[in-house]
Amino acid sequence: MRDIREIGSLWGRGGGKPLVVAGPCSAESEEQVRATAASLSHLGVDVFRAGIWKARTHPGGFEGVGERGLSWLQAVKSATGMRVATEVANSAHVAAALAAGIDVLWIGARTSASPFATQEIADALHGHDEVTVLVKNPVNPDLELWIGALQRIYNAGITRLGAIHRGFTAYGSQLYRNEPRWHIAIELRRRLPELTILCDPSHMGGKRELVAPISQCAIDMGFDGLMIECHCAPEQARSDSAQQLTPAQLKTVLDSLVARSPQPLTDELQTLRLQIDQCDRELLDVLTRRMAVSRQIGVFKKAHNLQILQPERYDDIVRRLSEAGAQTGMSAEFMQTLMQVIHEESVRQQLRLYRPSQDESEQ
Ligand code: PEP
Ligand code: MN
Repeated sequence: MRDIREIGSLWGRGGGKPLVVAGPCSAESEEQVRATAASLSHLGVDVFRAGIWKARTHPGGFEGVGERGLSWLQAVKSATGMRVATEVANSAHVAAALAAGIDVLWIGARTSASPFATQEIADALHGHDEVTVLVKNPVNPDLELWIGALQRIYNAGITRLGAIHRGFTAYGSQLYRNEPRWHIAIELRRRLPELTILCDPSHMGGKRELVAPISQCAIDMGFDGLMIECHCAPEQARSDSAQQLTPAQLKTVLDSLVARSPQPLTDELQTLRLQIDQCDRELLDVLTRRMAVSRQIGVFKKAHNLQILQPERYDDIVRRLSEAGAQTGMSAEFMQTLMQVIHEESVRQQLRLYRPSQDESEQ
């Protein structure tokens, strides 16, 4: 098996202009595709996107125009010079898109969640290393599943490979259509440092007014580019109407982006980093002390034959700290995750007191 950690970057990196993939959620008519692409080609858009096979949540919705949309994308390519991209969800889509000379294929979030579907696509891509493939994160927040999908495509010999962070399904989420959970994309970058990662603020936000702030956030974090839905008449769009921008709105968003340098090792930054290092040492110190107290509690629980897990106490800690953290600008999700991992380690240390021999044999 090829090791995906050896993957290189797709379009080079270096604080330059972010790569921009833009176009309608769905190709709806030849004229809509042509008109949208004509406007976008003047805005420095690198790749024109349009979905022609649409995975709809409910049956009976608009499921895309299908294969006839491929010739509309071919026409965009020859008229504007932009590379063209569409979503593929099975081997038949891949075969049709490759035969039509589509430059970039992306795998949607519902598809990357299924290893069977991703493997089927990988098999169909075998021998077509000229094509670029972008893998959206799976709908569920599972980094291993995302990396597994990338690895399947890489194993098929595709080295022009990148990822798209489009956020994760969260039942009842108020602000975002799909929660960013940035730490998952950051961990992907840490695990595969050279992999090209784009952000899709349209599906993340679900509302056009969120596209600009999410895009800037992605640039601030060092993403390599953006995939943004754009329609010549968004209010008439047959899918994802609320999140699509007009070409003029896209221009405003792109013009407003503030570029960030990848290597800003100025003196000021060095000083701030030293402060961060100091904070980290203090955190380590506090955690060490907390674990020592936790072990003392473990000794007490064992002496009184108490069970280790006391859920009310845990819930109480998480609730109190989430509220306190919110007052200083930290998200409840962050505080919950943090307290959860600290609590898990406390439990592990207490368990060691209950079953010292088993734990030693594990090491
Ligand atoms: C899309 O890009 O149009 C799309 C369906 O995206 P996702 O797979 O992220 O939902
Ligand atoms: Mn869409």
